[in-house]
Amino acid sequence: MKSYTTYFFLLILILLTTGCEEKENPHSQIQAEEKQIQVLPINTKPVKMDSRVSPLSIPILMYHSIGINSQSTLFVPPRVFQEQMEYLKMSGYNTITFKDLKSWKKGEAILDKPILITFDDGYLDNFTIGYPILKRLEMKATIFITSDLVSSTNHLSWGQIKEMEESGFIEIGVHTRHHVNLIKQSPMQLKDEILGAKQKIEEKLGHETLAFAYPFGKNNTKVVKVVKNAGFEFAVTTLSGLAQQDQGLLTLHRIRITGNQSEADFELMFP
Ligand SMILES: [Zn+2]
Repeated sequence: MKSYTTYFFLLILILLTTGCEEKENPHSQIQAEEKQIQVLPINTKPVKMDSRVSPLSIPILMYHSIGINSQSTLFVPPRVFQEQMEYLKMSGYNTITFKDLKSWKKGEAILDKPILITFDDGYLDNFTIGYPILKRLEMKATIFITSDLVSSTNHLSWGQIKEMEESGFIEIGVHTRHHVNLIKQSPMQLKDEILGAKQKIEEKLGHETLAFAYPFGKNNTKVVKVVKNAGFEFAVTTLSGLAQQDQGLLTLHRIRITGNQSEADFELMFP
């Protein structure tokens, strides 16, 4: 735990000293999010994580694209993703979704060695590459959709989103309407980006959504309040580490998985 704390404070220090520039054009989001990645100390030794410390001390993995792109670490190669999923399954991890966490909130027991797999932005390769691997291994994941980018270039269509969800292996979460930095929005824009996206996605799916992911991880008290008022039960950031109850269920941390992590690094993180 000590080394994890060191890692966390190192990350905060680096973020504070370098700042977090990002573009807000939604079509540049891969590059924008990668700018944040470059300030992460990804070469530091991974910290061992134990999901069994308490009922809510859970690894939530953050992926974006599954594909080959040597220019961006947001792409995890298909073979690597498959090996990571096979490793987690073989190591006894049980993939759960936010629906399972809702049951846990109501007092139901959670599976042993729980883990959440999440994908941000709703890229097409989540359907063409990631989903078949997950389905074959009978593993669950959550995809955070940017509602107004559905069916745009390299993004999922509503048909694909529905097909994945109906399989029972994929849960859909919300990632705003236009992938904007929420800290910079007016109160009216905030409501439109958060509640507007939730309503649009729920109208398409025909049921409620439980979880929200902040674009670029950006949030503050005002933003979190709008997320809460919109009716979300859980929200995830890009702060690094296990998700723990004392972080607040609307500001849970995640573990970023990038294309340049070695197999050994990954396995060390998830004993
Ligand atoms: Zn995003």
